[in-house]
Parts: sequence; C-alpha cells; structure tokens
Amino acid sequence: MEKLHEECGVFGIYNRDPARVDTAKTVYYALYALQHRGQEACGIAVNDNNLITLIKDLGLVHEVFDEETLRGMKGTIAIGHVRYSTTGGNNKRNIQPLGVDYIKGSLVIAHNGNISNAAVLRAELEKQGAVFQCTSDTEVIAFLIARERLRTPSVEEAVARVLPQLEGSFSLLVMSPRKLIAVRDKKGMRPLCLGRIGESQVFASESCALDGVGAEFVRDVEPGEMIVAEPEGMRSLFPEGRRDPASCALCIFEHIYFARPDSVLDGQSVYQARLAAGRLLARTHPVQADLVIGVPDSGLIAALGFARESGIPYGEGLIKNRYIGRTFIQPTQDGRESAVRIKLAPLRRAVEGKRVVMIDDSIVRGTTMRKIVALLRSAGAREVHVRISAPEFLWPCYYGTDIDERSQLASVKYAPQELAKRLNADSLGFLPLQQVESIARDSRLAFCTACFSGEYPWPVPTLADKTAFE
Ligand code: SF4
Repeated sequence: MEKLHEECGVFGIYNRDPARVDTAKTVYYALYALQHRGQEACGIAVNDNNLITLIKDLGLVHEVFDEETLRGMKGTIAIGHVRYSTTGGNNKRNIQPLGVDYIKGSLVIAHNGNISNAAVLRAELEKQGAVFQCTSDTEVIAFLIARERLRTPSVEEAVARVLPQLEGSFSLLVMSPRKLIAVRDKKGMRPLCLGRIGESQVFASESCALDGVGAEFVRDVEPGEMIVAEPEGMRSLFPEGRRDPASCALCIFEHIYFARPDSVLDGQSVYQARLAAGRLLARTHPVQADLVIGVPDSGLIAALGFARESGIPYGEGLIKNRYIGRTFIQPTQDGRESAVRIKLAPLRRAVEGKRVVMIDDSIVRGTTMRKIVALLRSAGAREVHVRISAPEFLWPCYYGTDIDERSQLASVKYAPQELAKRLNADSLGFLPLQQVESIARDSRLAFCTACFSGEYPWPVPTLADKTAFE
C-alpha cells in the first residue's frame, strides 16, 4: 500500500531484578508492541557482565526470535530495535542494534530517527581515515562516541560531546558494559519515554510498549535530556541545557499516523489527537452524506471523530486483509489494481447506494487512493467524498520517514479540486495547515510540520545528504 513509514522503534531495560524479570523476553514483548514502527528487521542485544549477545535479522519479531533463542540471551542490560528501511532495501548490515568494539570495550546502539547532517559528518570522518561497514547514520554516531570516549572519563561524557554535532532527529539508546544511556534530541522530534518495572528502568519509543510489558509509565524523556541507568542508580543530565518546549519540534505525523493510538506522547493521547483531527475535518470540510467510513486502520479513529462532529452515521465500509506479510509478492505494474483488491475489500452491503465520506490519514502519490475510490464505486457507492486527516504533503522529510521526492507528491502536482477529479472523488478536503497543531492541545511540545509547511527545524541538507543514508 502507498503508505508512509516510520523508520524505527527502540526499547531498553536496565534490569535490577533478573531473578524476577527476564531481560531478553521483556525486550521481545516490547518490540512486539512497537512492531508498527518497523516491520522489515529487528534485533535484541543483551549484556551479561560485558558479554554481549546480539541477535538481529530481517523479519518480524516473531520470525527472528523464538523461545530457544531468547532462553540463550541472558543478562541485565538489553536494548532492542525494530526497523523499516526507506532505501537500500534489505541491507542486512544496517539492521540494529548496532554493536561496535573499540579500545574501551563494546558499545551497542539503537536509534530511532535520522541524522540530517550524517553525510557531512561521515565525509569528514572518512577524510580522517574512518572506515564504515554500513550505510546507516547510526554508525556515524557510534564512531563519534567511540572517538570522544578516548578523550573523556565516561561514556556519558563522550555522548554529551557528540550531541552538539548532530542535527536531525534521534531517540537513542546506548548500551555500554555497565550503563544504559537514553538520549532524546534537543527538539524532541521522535518520542521516547521512561518507565519502571519495580526498581528497573525501561525506555521505549512509545508508551504502548510499557503497557505491553507491564511497566509503569514514569515520564517522557525530555528534549535534550540524557538519562543514565547504572549500577549506582539513575541520573538525568541536560548536556546542552534545557529546551523551551515551545521551540521543540515533535513530529506531528506521529499523532496523525505513525504512533499507536493507545500511546500517549508528551502528554497527548494519540487516540484523542486522531479524534480531534476528524472533528476538525468535519468543521472545515463539511459535506452532506449518509455514511462516514475510515480506511483501516489509521483512518478509523479520525472517521469516528468526523462522524461525531457531523452527526453522519459511522460505519465500516472497507475490510482490511490482515494477513499480508512482508513476503507478499508485489504484482507487476499491471497487477497493482489487484494488489489493492487483495489488501482492501469494500463492504457492498454498507456502501451500496450511499453517499460515503471516506477518511484516510494522507495522500502521498494518490495512486492507492484512486483505487480505493474505484473500489467503493464498484461496490455501489453513489458518491465518494475523500477527507484527509492531515494537511497536504508538499515537502520531503529528512527526519526518519520516507516522504521523499517532491516531484512525486500528488499535492505538489495538483490543487485539491484537480486532485479530486483525478481520484474520481466527488470532493476532497485536507486538514488546514494553520490548525493542524490544534489536534494535539495537550502536548507539552510544539511540533514539526515541515512536510506540510516547508518550515524545517534544522538546516535543509543537500540532496546528497538525503540519499546517502538509509
Ligand atoms: S517533516 Fe513531517 S514526517 Fe518528517 S518529522 Fe516533520 S512532521 Fe514528521
């Protein structure tokens, strides 16, 4: 399906009660809860007194790990990662966590986000003789930390010296022989939260992973904060000072699409944000209709919000096939029509003869949306009004998602009316850009809206920066 992808999800645990809490299994279940953030590859690294066991491969969490594998992963500190790669496809070397051995021992890193100046940093390092094994920006971070570690008395000081060099988004977990360090970039672009299981610390990309392992939510890691879990306890540091929340840039698309609806990010419930987006759409793009439906799954909650605000009945109109896996054989160009039919089926009984409002979270190229409209019409829908619970995508993202190539974006090519015609929809409406932040009024942080507004929170990298890395 023509869907955008988040690149990653991370989870880490500093286990102070290994007799009661199974370190590797906790990470395994947490990664299950974070699977929506990346379905191409995953990995877990466990640290047992500086003996690192790192297992990672292409595939879903349940494909890579089984009971026996997990049984062999003993230790007290662990980090895990789920990944979706935007380019370079199935390059196994880029799978995380990323482990490096250097003069001070071992370092294992899991990263969610994208370092937008990674190409520049890497080129500088290469000029100094550095050799890289993969094309991941995470390896650049690992190299920088290892280098700084030679000049600093502790790993957290090395990390602190690297932070000012990095631009872009990162929620980072760094595992050293004795410590687990969690860092969130100073604009808070990707979510990261802290939880606890008894006296043990856990860190997760989203709060749904804490719920998944029975951990108690403690708080979000603040933008620019570094939390060090170590044998003596836990410390919070702000190497570059505290950040004014109003100058932060949490990705608004986390609320619209990426995050799981049961997660709460920086005080804002994702579910409530999606409901609010639907309500706002109903106010800004009202329409006379008989039925409101959502494109499953991410359009469903906004559809509910639209229905509640407009008073038009909510119902199911499209059924999603939940068994399309990573190995689904993509049809050739000619067969793509049938690919959509296999993945989504219209509910004829529900839509036949009706004026339907259909809500989805985004239009990227428009090709899938045109097919979905056609599906509804073939099932007898009398009118199809498309409403999108996000503003128009007009700019690429450099912060860990695969919005790319301005020239490919439907909204760059066509104004909404023209696009509606091309989709064969009776009308089309997007969430107004000026009001998009109002869907998340409870958020403690301000938002990045760059892919809609073109206002980037960091200097825009050159094209080479964008394409050099996954
Ligand atoms: S550009 Fe868009 S997708 Fe990328 S971080 Fe900003 S809001 Fe999120």
